[in-house]
Amino acid sequence: MRCAVSLLLLLSLLSLSHGYREPGEEADWCDYEQCKLPDCRCSDTDIPGGLPVHQIPQIVMVSFDDAVQDRWKADVGNVLSDHKNPNGCPLGATFFASHEYTSYQTVEEYYSKGYEIASHSISHTPYQDWWKNANETQWHDEIIGMQTIIHEFANIPTDDIQGMRAPLLQTAGDTTYKMMTNNNLKYDSTMPTRRFTDPPLWPYTLDYKESKDCQIEPCPVESWPGAWINVAGLTLFMKEIVDKDDVWIINVGQAIEWIQKPTKLSSIFNFAPWSCEAKPPARCTQAQAKWCRYVLDDGQERYMQTCNEKCPPNYPWVGNPKGE
Ligand SMILES: [Zn+2]
Repeated sequence: MRCAVSLLLLLSLLSLSHGYREPGEEADWCDYEQCKLPDCRCSDTDIPGGLPVHQIPQIVMVSFDDAVQDRWKADVGNVLSDHKNPNGCPLGATFFASHEYTSYQTVEEYYSKGYEIASHSISHTPYQDWWKNANETQWHDEIIGMQTIIHEFANIPTDDIQGMRAPLLQTAGDTTYKMMTNNNLKYDSTMPTRRFTDPPLWPYTLDYKESKDCQIEPCPVESWPGAWINVAGLTLFMKEIVDKDDVWIINVGQAIEWIQKPTKLSSIFNFAPWSCEAKPPARCTQAQAKWCRYVLDDGQERYMQTCNEKCPPNYPWVGNPKGE
């Protein structure tokens, strides 16, 4: 509700861990001998795996921010369902969901269609300084709290909610990435760049110093091994690109899997992370979903839609994501 829906095409990366850097050390210049895929990548514009440009797919990541609501379905449907990827699978997208006004029935349905769901905080507090100065616990309660809410009310396995984006694109630098590392989130898709647009930066990990410009201070200066960074990119019109036969429109998690395991176009139809993996159907339809009603302390009402059999007694919020 609070930010406009954004359609970002993200060109990027992310990850897990390996052993030669200690979290929280000051980051050094990237060491290409040490930093290797699948768990480490320097921040640069080199094609992963050293593949020639004509042998790689054109990867386009589509993402949406903020509340996930039923009325999105029509818009999202128009954008995404008219087309397919070259292997016949539906186009992918990542939804960075915040809590207020989100329908968890819709979230559950999107997940069952193969879209990726990621965390964009519970409160989406609209003050840049708040996010900039928030401590690790506050970041945890917002970002991991939202992961808990999604798991609890949309029935999505926690391990499948592996990405985050900070509200207002404002991180607290190392504090945010420390929280990410400590909670095993795989990637962040917050930081923008102006310097690297053509060619763009591929997603990279925070094991070493970034070569990226810092557009919104603070940016991380410490080493966070295996934390993947997906730089927010340019906005394009889907129609101009979608019918090209080497263009793949996929979610952020799938893009990072390709970067971890660069695969040539000639073998791409066999690349498992881009196949249409069947997900369980949503537990209920929109019409069957339960509406949970809450009156907040200031008298305002909130409704929360879920396929769960029972509404939690309290409105799920920061510090009480299960609404106990
Ligand atoms: Zn937002």
